[in-house]
Amino acid sequence: MKQFNICVLAGDGIGKEVTDWGVKALETAGRYHELSFNFHHELLGHAAIQATGNPLPDATLERCKASDAVLLGAIGDPHYDLNPHLKVRPEQGLLALRKGLGLFANIRPILLFDELLDASSLKRAVIQGTDILFFRELTGGIYFGEPRGRKLNGTVAYDTKVYAKYEVDRIARMAFEAAKSRKKILHSVDKANVLESSRLWREVVQDLTPEYPEVEVVHMYVDNAAMQLIKNPKQFDVVLTGNMFGDILTDEASQIAGSLGMLASASIGNEVGLFEPIHGSAPDIAGQNIANPLATILSTALMCNRSLNAPTTGQLIIDAVDAVLKAGYRTKDIMGPQTDPQKVLGTHKMGEQVLNHIHSIAEKNVPA
Ligand code: NAD
Repeated sequence: MKQFNICVLAGDGIGKEVTDWGVKALETAGRYHELSFNFHHELLGHAAIQATGNPLPDATLERCKASDAVLLGAIGDPHYDLNPHLKVRPEQGLLALRKGLGLFANIRPILLFDELLDASSLKRAVIQGTDILFFRELTGGIYFGEPRGRKLNGTVAYDTKVYAKYEVDRIARMAFEAAKSRKKILHSVDKANVLESSRLWREVVQDLTPEYPEVEVVHMYVDNAAMQLIKNPKQFDVVLTGNMFGDILTDEASQIAGSLGMLASASIGNEVGLFEPIHGSAPDIAGQNIANPLATILSTALMCNRSLNAPTTGQLIIDAVDAVLKAGYRTKDIMGPQTDPQKVLGTHKMGEQVLNHIHSIAEKNVPA
């Protein structure tokens, strides 16, 4: 039996509802492959501020560092939108955690399940066959750059977008490697016509091309990329971009997959990896048992593949999600015109369906 320590950060809003099912899916699937898990629950975001005054308590960071992987729900609370002057905010916890764990690459697969083609607001013919792997830089750019602040009695505000060569180089190499093992085309997205930091970005990516002669590189401006992504998503395979551009483009791309509630992500750096759905804390639906848990469940599959060296377990989880969708079950966010109203499920029932399908697929594959 292989043992793993997983730090679970439920966070805020729907975070607990969805991480509960991620934990159960991982535990259930792992049992079939001799994997066992110790789950350690720690605080992050608004929940952590309420309990300790700090959005990333030391105990949380220490526990994450000592774990084999981290499963995160989401952070954020409307309280801070209503009180923009508050200096301590939930997002600071997540940014500090990424920095603290050295998580410089956020990998976001746009994975399409055939059954959800009609849940997208885009035409089936446009999206069918889309398979994009985003590499979003995570610890640099405008979310971290200094100086930032206000001047002239608060009437002028500024943020700074900064990239160092090494920051672009290390994530670009990851994206090139992925492109090499996939369709050998890499789209690097920037705004080099306007921003100096983007001109450096483009230079660094271009300088790497001799090391990857088999990979075709397409440099694209972010405004064009936003348009091309919904016009013809199949032209993309591996996409490399900075922190804010990646944040925005992957939310846009979630609509190709049907919903924010379907997309998983992996944040990778030097040591411990962090796995989370790309959606936020969804305060508008928190506590109502309607959040889609599939993005979080799929994040545990990514964890198996990327951090636990357990791809069979990862595949079992993906197959179970696929089977649940094939059986016609939907949460509200992914229902389409053809959905049987009897098969529209809440968070718990959807989670239970995934567990049932993990059991039935695994038991079918056990040699007699
Ligand atoms: P959001 O992703 O929370 O929600 C956007 C919309 O998608 C909402 O209508 C929500 O109900 C829906 N949605 C999201 N996840 C869903 C799911 N699993 N199932 C069904 N529907 C789902 O984004 P937002 O409303 O812009 O932000 C809410 C809070 O989350 C803010 O405080 C924001 O800062 C935070 N946030 C956190 C993260 C993170 O923790 N990584 C990411 C994005 C936003």
